[in-house]
Amino acid sequence: MLTPCPRCDDPRTEKSSDSPIPGVWEVYRCTRCNYVWRSSEKLSGVHKYDQALVDRVTPWWPQLVRKKRG
Ligand SMILES: [Zn+2]
Repeated sequence: MLTPCPRCDDPRTEKSSDSPIPGVWEVYRCTRCNYVWRSSEKLSGVHKYDQALVDRVTPWWPQLVRKKRG
């Protein structure tokens, strides 16, 4: 079972890659907020995703947000 995203708590995460030496760590990615982390990282200090902050900032900095396709 994959870990939910440490940043936005979304369960839709996927394994992105493995360590060069097998079994040392894996890299995971959140499909919602694009946060990427390594399984060996300490994740307790991750800054939580804040939609209110994103909504406040994006009108001034639109290049931060990837346009939705389709
Ligand atoms: Zn996330």
